[in-house]
Amino acid sequence: MRVSKTMIKNAEDLIQRLNHAGVDVDCETIRAVDKVYPVRISEYYFNLIDWKDPLHCPIYRQCVPDGNELKDSLEADPLNEFTYEVSPFLVHKYYSRAAFFCSNICRMNCRHCTRKNTVMSNRIADKSALGPAVEYIKAHPEVNDLLLTGGDPLALPPDLLEYYLAGFRPVVNTIRIGTRVIVTDPAMITDALCDMLARYHPLWIFTQFNHPREVTKEAAEACDRLQRRGIPLGNQTVFMKGINADADTLTELYTKLIGIRVRPYYLYLCDKVKGTGHFYADYRQGMKVMEQLRYRLPGYAVPRLIIDADGENGGKVSIEQNHILEEADDYLILPGRTEGTTVKYSTVPPRVGTDR
Ligand code: SF4
Repeated sequence: MRVSKTMIKNAEDLIQRLNHAGVDVDCETIRAVDKVYPVRISEYYFNLIDWKDPLHCPIYRQCVPDGNELKDSLEADPLNEFTYEVSPFLVHKYYSRAAFFCSNICRMNCRHCTRKNTVMSNRIADKSALGPAVEYIKAHPEVNDLLLTGGDPLALPPDLLEYYLAGFRPVVNTIRIGTRVIVTDPAMITDALCDMLARYHPLWIFTQFNHPREVTKEAAEACDRLQRRGIPLGNQTVFMKGINADADTLTELYTKLIGIRVRPYYLYLCDKVKGTGHFYADYRQGMKVMEQLRYRLPGYAVPRLIIDADGENGGKVSIEQNHILEEADDYLILPGRTEGTTVKYSTVPPRVGTDR
C-alpha cells in the first residue's frame, strides 16, 4: 500500500509547526514568500530538521521559505527549456535524448528548485500528451533515451505514471526518471511501486541527495527496494551556499551514498534562477572542492562538476579543472598522488624491436 502521510501545505500550517517547535520565525515573511512560491513539505522531511539549531540546518534551509527568495534580480527562466518543445511537454534539446514533463507536483517544494517559476507553477501534461510525444520519437529514431521529469514523476498516481511508461517503452532504448521522493518522502517508494517500475526495464533513476543528513535509514531502504528490482541509482547534487559548498560535507555525503550503492553522477552549480540567488555558490569554489574530493574519495565516488549553460550552444557542460599543470615536448607535470604534490610523466614513446 502506498503510504500517504500528512504534509505541511501552506504558510499557516508551517508557522504553527515552527512555533510548536520553539522556532522564532518571521511569520509575515513566510506568508509573503508562500504567496509566490508555495510551501509544501512532507512530514518525513520536516522531521529531519536539527531542532537544536534550525536556522542553520541544511534541511530547514531547503524546505522553509526565506525572505531572500523575493529579493534577487535573476531571470525566471534563464534556461528556456521549453524553447526546444517539439510536442506538448516533450523537449528535445540533446541529439539522442528527450525529456517529457509529466508532473508538476512534488513531495516537497524545494526552495532551490530550478523550475520554481516554470513547471512548478504551470499546467502540466495529461494523458492526451502521450500520443503526440510517442509519434515524434517514432519519427526521430535518433532519440533513444527518454527522461521523465517534472516536478516529480514518482509523486504522480502510480497508474498515471505507468500509463506514460507503457507508452514510451516500445519507442526508446532507455527510460530515466528524475525524482526526489527517495530523499523527501522515501515511504512513497513502496514494493508495489518498485514492482511496477521493474516492468519497464531498462529503467534508470536519478535522485538528488544534497546533504549527508538526508542519507537516512529510510532513504537507504527505499534505495534498496529499487536496487533489488535491478534499477540503477545515480545522484545529482546541487552545489549550494549554506548547504553543501565545502569538501567536508560533500566527502561525507558521497561516502554515505556509495555505502548505499547510489553513484554520485553530477554536482550541479545552482542555476541562476529567480528566487534561488541566495543559494548560488561560485564556480571557482566548485572547482576547488572538486580538487579536494579527488584526493579524498575513490574515483567512482567523485561526480562531474556541471553547469547548465544558457545560449545557443548551451546545455550541461562539464567544468573540470585541467589536470595538466605543465606540458613540454617530452614530459607532462601532473598532480601527484597526495594533495599539493606533482608527478613528472615522460611522454617519450618506447623504442621497440630493432631500434635498440
Ligand atoms: S523535487 Fe525537484 S522538481 Fe520538485 S521542487 Fe524539489 S527540486 Fe523542484
